[in-house]
Amino acid sequence: MKLKNLTTVLAGALSLTTIGTGFAQDSAPAPAAKVTAATPAPKLVVVIAVDQFSADLFAEYRSHFTGGLARLAQGVVFPSGYQAHGATETCPGHSTILTGNHPAHTGIIANNFFDLSIAREDKRLYCAEDETLPDTSSKSGKYVASVNHLMVATLGDWMKAASPKAQVVSVAGKDRAAIMMGGRKADELMWLFPGGLTSYRGTTLSPTAQQASTAIAAAIAAPRPALALPADCASHDIAIPVGDKGATVGTWRFQRDGGDFRRFMASPEADGAVLATGAALRAARKMGEGDATDLLILGLSATDYIGHGTGTAGSEMCTQMLALDRELGDFFARLDATGIDYMVALTADHGGHDIPERNRQNALPMAERVDKALDPDAIGKAVAEKLGLPQPLLYSDGPFGDMYLSKTLTAAQRKAAMAELTARFRAQRQVEAVVTGEELAAYPISRRSPDTWTLMDKLRASYNAQRSGDFIVVLKPRVTPIPESGMGYVATHGSVWDYDRRVPILFWRKGLTGFEQPNAVMTVDILPTLASVIGVPVDAGKIDGRCLDLLSGPESSCR
Ligand SMILES: [Zn+2]
Repeated sequence: MKLKNLTTVLAGALSLTTIGTGFAQDSAPAPAAKVTAATPAPKLVVVIAVDQFSADLFAEYRSHFTGGLARLAQGVVFPSGYQAHGATETCPGHSTILTGNHPAHTGIIANNFFDLSIAREDKRLYCAEDETLPDTSSKSGKYVASVNHLMVATLGDWMKAASPKAQVVSVAGKDRAAIMMGGRKADELMWLFPGGLTSYRGTTLSPTAQQASTAIAAAIAAPRPALALPADCASHDIAIPVGDKGATVGTWRFQRDGGDFRRFMASPEADGAVLATGAALRAARKMGEGDATDLLILGLSATDYIGHGTGTAGSEMCTQMLALDRELGDFFARLDATGIDYMVALTADHGGHDIPERNRQNALPMAERVDKALDPDAIGKAVAEKLGLPQPLLYSDGPFGDMYLSKTLTAAQRKAAMAELTARFRAQRQVEAVVTGEELAAYPISRRSPDTWTLMDKLRASYNAQRSGDFIVVLKPRVTPIPESGMGYVATHGSVWDYDRRVPILFWRKGLTGFEQPNAVMTVDILPTLASVIGVPVDAGKIDGRCLDLLSGPESSCR
């Protein structure tokens, strides 16, 4: 099966003649009038977050791109963008992109955090759930999606405050991506699920979204044969054994049975579905054709599922990078055909790290998986038994990150437990540091360049007094926090280290003179940058980022 046919089925069902029908290589628009400070605001802003699209992936594949990513790489390029904070997970990362705020202020400190004061038995909160609803739980599928935990406004909220006519639409592979970028006031907000597209409970999809959902459901239901390996990916075609059950990665070709939603999501098809839906909603709503600037937000999740499932350096990721480039090219070609003056900003929610098994084969012998002994549940149990404290003593979402002590302890018990727990974590060979919430509360948010941030700077940008743990465990670099690898989840991100923090930040607009700025900037800079371009006032006192001047030369796009 050829790559370029991936979204044809969706395009046909959605009457999208461009998406999936061809290669965008020669679709670059004709030379346009140069964008200057006097150029009116673009009519449409398209913000794209590619989940787990690290600066390393952008660097590795940049010279291979010929479609949409090649176009963006000719725009204003910040190859050293930073998700500057410490807990580099999906929900926090998406929360920074269109709010201008670090997770310390967005309140989205992790994908999951704990609130030991809530009434329900499951104290773990998913970042994008409404835990106040009865009979819900943070466990997959048992929660109700919500924007409640986001503590700040998004670009869409600012745009609608400035002009009620502004339209805001957010479509993503994952609910948390659509929600954390879309904010509270989006006209339409949806994400992929096994039945196609879904939205908040009680929300009805628009007729166009329903049409897209039906087409996507049909695509999921259809089996897919293996894809041909692109010639550029031949050198990545090496089987790497993982785990002790005979599994390998590096040779997967994206074939799947009909109805296999998990594998649909971990394939270029999922991104094609989101892009096709975005294009269809834009057309149906005439976004970019009215008086006000409109905002189309797209969350492309396949890169992340492929990274988790097969690592970042195999033939699978290579195939995905080239497919993403082509799908984006098709999408931009469709926008070009409308003649709308649109601006694109593309970045990622976090970076990523390859599987230690392949790292060890490729000159990185120190890469390893986390020790099974580094198990917070076991450590919490041992400490509770030693000190005679009630159980459970310790709550956590894994072997690193935020750790929460039971609220039932007396002050003296709490002090003793903190001392014993932090000592036991610090004694672990793979632990870099243990920092307490008290230490972080007393520490200022850094105003320095994010490439120079200390460990405390990174952790502070993820620290929120209402949400963060009593202490935070940081693993050493190149320790993958998945003790046993199995097919489906072999590699991850989330660390304080730069492979997880660095992401590209790309801006493109027809007529905008491209330049490259290799110095470090942050994803929290995207909101003030876009707000300035479209003339939407944002209270600088309410954000952590700064406006990036996108005009090469003495003029500035920052007002
Ligand atoms: Zn992610």
